[in-house]
Amino acid sequence: MTQAAPHHEASQVTEQRCAGAARDLLTSTRLATLRRCAKQHYLRYELGLSRVRTSDALRLGAAFHRGLERYNRGADPADAIVDAVAEYEFVPDWADSFEWDVEREIIQQLLAGHFWRYEKDDVEIIAVERTFELPLVNPQSGRPSRAFVIAGKIDAIVRLADGRLAVLEYKTAGEDIAPDSDYWPRLRCDPQISQYVLAARALGFDVATVLYDVTRKPTISPLRATPLDKRKYTKDGRLYAAQRENDETPEEFGQRLLVDVGDRPDYYFQRREVPRLEDELAEFQAEVWQQAKQLLDARRHGRWFRNVHRFTCGTCEFANICLNGVRVTSGTAPAGFQILTNVSPELPAGDD
Ligand code: SF4
Repeated sequence: MTQAAPHHEASQVTEQRCAGAARDLLTSTRLATLRRCAKQHYLRYELGLSRVRTSDALRLGAAFHRGLERYNRGADPADAIVDAVAEYEFVPDWADSFEWDVEREIIQQLLAGHFWRYEKDDVEIIAVERTFELPLVNPQSGRPSRAFVIAGKIDAIVRLADGRLAVLEYKTAGEDIAPDSDYWPRLRCDPQISQYVLAARALGFDVATVLYDVTRKPTISPLRATPLDKRKYTKDGRLYAAQRENDETPEEFGQRLLVDVGDRPDYYFQRREVPRLEDELAEFQAEVWQQAKQLLDARRHGRWFRNVHRFTCGTCEFANICLNGVRVTSGTAPAGFQILTNVSPELPAGDD
């Protein structure tokens, strides 16, 4: 019994690959997932499983990104914001309508703040949302892989004030992004940076650097009405200034957030260059080759190791099925999951 699972998993892989993709695309998200946990990679990229309900963080980041894309393509700020939150018009069955409206306010106000913050910057948009594919090259023989290509999408190519070309990459973060925070040294070592530089050059843009544009998600939240048993009144019958009669509405919260963004722009928005050296690009290509070999080995043996830790499992969309030993069968999605026909939805499907 215990030895049957690898064979079972290996056969699922073959079916999924035949059904889902003519080429095997190694995106930076996929490679990061493989580095984080091979089992998570198996469930997400080999079986194509994905939660039906997207996580709040992914949804917010995608909508924010959509607004920036529209703006970079020439939409005025108001139209870009409307497009960004179009999917928030209807509240899904599973969502709390108040939280849903608050999320929409966060996206709208962060976009408004971003447009305001950078409206006078000296960065010229040259190209927007460019997909790419790079051969994965054996660092010893120089021959391309027959199994994989490196693929992805660049948010934008820009010309900086000094005339250099740069990849512009947007991120939303749920942590401190101040210049002296841990965020930037970690980003400096992110292999994704090398991938962007190589991709931009392959697309014909001789970029010198990557410009990271990071937006911090708010830590403030809607104010709640003071519980009845905690309320204190002045002599003339008014609530104390710090207490509230009613919950703050999503719209009121949005206005307060916009004021906060205006008061503390550096808290919410940071842009920094992350350069890359030529030997770092070579190192990136060698590392991806090594990861590809690891991936093929896992497939060959039908064995995908778990990396059990609170930092990995704590944010894993498969935690409830993986940690409870739920057996996933080929072509059948467990409750709450779907099987994706395109396992890299950030890239257009069917352009093989
Ligand atoms: S729950 Fe943990 S061990 Fe299981 S797939 Fe997710 S990250 Fe890996």
